[in-house]
Amino acid sequence: MTIDNLFYPTIKRRSTYIGKGDGQVSRYSDYRDEIQEDCGNRCVYCDIKHAEIGYEGMHLDHFRPQKHFPGLTDNPTNLVLACPKCNSFKSYKWPAFKRINACSHEGKTGFIDPFEESRKEYFAVSTDGSLLPLMDPAEYLIILMKLNRTARIQVRRNRIIRHEMKKLSGKLENLISDLITDWKAERISADEAMRSMEQHCLRLVSLAEMMTV
Ligand SMILES: [Zn+2]
Repeated sequence: MTIDNLFYPTIKRRSTYIGKGDGQVSRYSDYRDEIQEDCGNRCVYCDIKHAEIGYEGMHLDHFRPQKHFPGLTDNPTNLVLACPKCNSFKSYKWPAFKRINACSHEGKTGFIDPFEESRKEYFAVSTDGSLLPLMDPAEYLIILMKLNRTARIQVRRNRIIRHEMKKLSGKLENLISDLITDWKAERISADEAMRSMEQHCLRLVSLAEMMTV
């Protein structure tokens, strides 16, 4: 299915990070609010939203790991938002070149910089909520970071179902209005109008039942 708007939105870094402000030296943790906002309050790897994560908080991840790039530790342009699980699966892994300006992936392995590339070109989402790899290094990332772990599939599936329900609710509103007009004009019987509304309501209920808590 198309993942426009529902998954992996385009994100953009602000031109200047303030951190502590007032000319004070900032540590990476001082940029949390700005990074969180720039990342759209989502984990840049599995795409879970902060609001969907429940009790767990989000982490600041050093996109290029501190272990290999110590000079980037407090550089805000190397920070991204990650959920605790993704952050821990990624850890200090960095199979790409260790040079600072080299591409973050090469061949089948590496990481996709969410601010430099469109993740929609790398991942598709199936209707059951699973991520599908479109090109390298997506498959490597799905396996390494367990991006199709059960909890994440459920979150994506619920997002799809919620989206479908919203569309159907809108259609139902229009349908009821049309049916009332047709019934008043005696173009259809009350029975026909009721049957048609019932079918749409049942579809809405079945979608609601598919939601995973
Ligand atoms: Zn994540």
